[in-house]
Amino acid sequence: MGLKKIFPVIFVLISLSLIGSIYIQINWILTMLENKQEEFKHKLRDATNYVAQELVSQRSSPAGKVLRLKPGFFRPSDPFTTEMMRVPTIAERYTVEDIGDKMRKAFNLVGMKNTRFEFSVSSDPGGSPLSIHPLELRSRNFLREILDTSNNFSVIMPLLAPENADGNSTLPDELLVVVVPDYKKTVLGEMRVMIAGAIFFTFVIIAAFYVTVNALVRQKKLSEIKNDFINNMTHEFKTPLATISLAVDALRNEKVVQDRNKSEYFTGIIKEENKRMNKQVETILQASLLDRQEQQLNRKSLHAHVIIQEAMENFQLQLEGKGGRSELHLNAKDDQIFADEVHFTNIITNLIDNAVKYSKDNLLIKITTHSTPKNLVIRIEDNGIGMSKETQRRIFEKFYRAHTGNLHNVKGFGLGLSYVKTIVEAHEGRIKVDSTVGRGTCFTLELPLKLD
Ligand code: ADP
Repeated sequence: MGLKKIFPVIFVLISLSLIGSIYIQINWILTMLENKQEEFKHKLRDATNYVAQELVSQRSSPAGKVLRLKPGFFRPSDPFTTEMMRVPTIAERYTVEDIGDKMRKAFNLVGMKNTRFEFSVSSDPGGSPLSIHPLELRSRNFLREILDTSNNFSVIMPLLAPENADGNSTLPDELLVVVVPDYKKTVLGEMRVMIAGAIFFTFVIIAAFYVTVNALVRQKKLSEIKNDFINNMTHEFKTPLATISLAVDALRNEKVVQDRNKSEYFTGIIKEENKRMNKQVETILQASLLDRQEQQLNRKSLHAHVIIQEAMENFQLQLEGKGGRSELHLNAKDDQIFADEVHFTNIITNLIDNAVKYSKDNLLIKITTHSTPKNLVIRIEDNGIGMSKETQRRIFEKFYRAHTGNLHNVKGFGLGLSYVKTIVEAHEGRIKVDSTVGRGTCFTLELPLKLD
């Protein structure tokens, strides 16, 4: 299967598994949350039950103990002796702290060490836990928390009064109410690590997915570029080879051999085509050298103006053939740079060559220079076909060529500008492009001056 077909398959498969795993994880966490809540309620009931049993069993312990009132508790004077002798209720026998301690112990026992709770013991049998009764015992925030029914969970446990031999009770039944405020938060807190882990690893997978897709897209683009390059190169070499072959055939012709003018014409063609192929091989070589970072800069003091003038002169014939012209405004006061002569010449030649290649009628190439305290600035302007913003962003990439209809008849490998940029940067310089489609293009080079 080719990259083209396998790519969407991988994309769909990974997307599906990602969505699936996220869905399963959410479901799993929700179920776990529910279970934890149930478990929590169960534990709370256990703890409450434990305390309730303790309280009830202590009440029915020997009379002497039963009768002991909590310190500082005085029953209002009562005319009836029977009432004087009455067995105290649980609320009367214990302080808030006593029961709080018992609750805490029970909570620790069932493994709810840090859970907050509020409680009440009310001696109002059958009444709602909210009804205030004189003999009620309440922890400090009990009333506030029991009212907040959406976030709390409460357990109501009856504390049945002991029965007499005749089956009646002298005491009212009591209720032990325990409230845990914000119990959902408490449960969520327990699952914090799990949830954070699930979210974290999901993000890791999404990030890995993103990187993979990106790499695949880049790979695909690269293989397209390589194909383009090979097609381009084949085309570029086929034409001169065919021309040379024709010229050689012509030279073998008896008539041509005898006609000196004609044979010179054909050898001239062969020489020209040879030069062209040489130049192309040179370009490709340059690029592959850049790839391996093997270029050695052979830097020396140069006068940039001289090189610009020479380079421009070499294009005069081509310009005349096209009916174009050039203007040089070499205004820089200082034009001495510390550069590699061959590479610097190549840079200027490449930029002028592009200006000629991507031109329209009435071509005008304008080269201007000026110097700043530290840099030499060279502007190479043309009034050619120009390029879009997207193209401008990518022209310095290796093998990039704008694919606009009529552009295909202009030959090139898309290597020139990536070479220019690499060399300029190797000289600690900068290059930028400004262009308008249909208007023209301006390349601005900035190179450090050799200051001595
Ligand atoms: P090549 O000229 O071999 O295609 P380059 O790297 O020199 O490769 O240029 C890359 C692309 O930038 C060209 O294919 C062209 O689309 C665009 N380009 C470069 N110079 C100009 C210019 N002066 N005017 C318009 N487009 C240009």
